[in-house]
Amino acid sequence: MRQSLGAGLGSTTGPLSTVHDVAMLDLDGVVYRGPDAVPGAAKALATAHEHGLRLAYITNNASRTAQQVADKLVAMGMPHVGADDVVTSAQAVAHLMSDALPAGSAVLVIGGEGLRTPLEERGLRCVSSLEESPVAVVQGFHPDIGWHELSEAAYAIQAGLPWYASNTDLTVPTARGIAPGNGSLVQAVRNATGAEPIVAGKPERALFDETVARVGGARPLMVGDRLDTDIEGAIAAGIVSLAVLSGVSSLQDIVDAAPGHRPTYVSADLCGLDDVHPEVEVTSGTARCGSAEVTHDGTRLSIVHGDIGATVTLRALVGLAWDLADRSDISVRVDGTLAP
Ligand SMILES: [Mg+2]
Repeated sequence: MRQSLGAGLGSTTGPLSTVHDVAMLDLDGVVYRGPDAVPGAAKALATAHEHGLRLAYITNNASRTAQQVADKLVAMGMPHVGADDVVTSAQAVAHLMSDALPAGSAVLVIGGEGLRTPLEERGLRCVSSLEESPVAVVQGFHPDIGWHELSEAAYAIQAGLPWYASNTDLTVPTARGIAPGNGSLVQAVRNATGAEPIVAGKPERALFDETVARVGGARPLMVGDRLDTDIEGAIAAGIVSLAVLSGVSSLQDIVDAAPGHRPTYVSADLCGLDDVHPEVEVTSGTARCGSAEVTHDGTRLSIVHGDIGATVTLRALVGLAWDLADRSDISVRVDGTLAP
């Protein structure tokens, strides 16, 4: 029996970058890892841009302004980057707030310049104390936030002000390791108030909407490394997604993803933008995709043809694993030798 997996894994007959008109690129784990560019990212993006793909660099991190993010990307050699090509969760939350609040409202800001700049651009007045009569509270990551700021937010929320958060990522990657992110600071305020913030960043859809509004595009493609934020968020927003293996989520994580939580495409890194993604065909324990062939003998997966890390090989592996999981409840282990 020959079975096409078109419904599970999306397929293309040309490079993926010719099928979409804008790529929403998550940054950490996709374009760079901490201070360093992901190898090959700049070249892959330049080629995708030549194919007509508009590049939008999107980030949940609200600590830097769009211009500061653009400067970092330019310094890393990324192509076609200006401040207008960067979309931050701070811009998305500022948009939400300016839509909901009277023009010129004072807002209590728990965050830094990356949050204040887009709020001011939307005509809101940033204040730092409840004494200054703010009408809402907004919280975004900044390394200088301390107990006094978090307590001011808690007092304002207890006074009945609406509470916004740029994002709720529990951690933030730094050059020295993983550190508490905005979500951890939001949790401190939640502990004090029992309230829940309105959130703009991934996986909520405001950041995706902000990107389409700013950068345009009728056929967006979300490119991300985290299934729980990038891919879940894209699915919830009805946006096609490419999962890359250069960051947090592993090939095993993608293999383990349940129906409804799976990316449309998978590749090792951004080079997958410039690849064709041929249909995967499964025949009783064997999957073929382009020149790649993989088998499952009831216990383990093995590659018959294909280079590990090549898009066609990854597609055959993922397509076969999902097929087995859906039809027989077999959960396929991708052992270390297979991981790219
Ligand atoms: Mg990421």
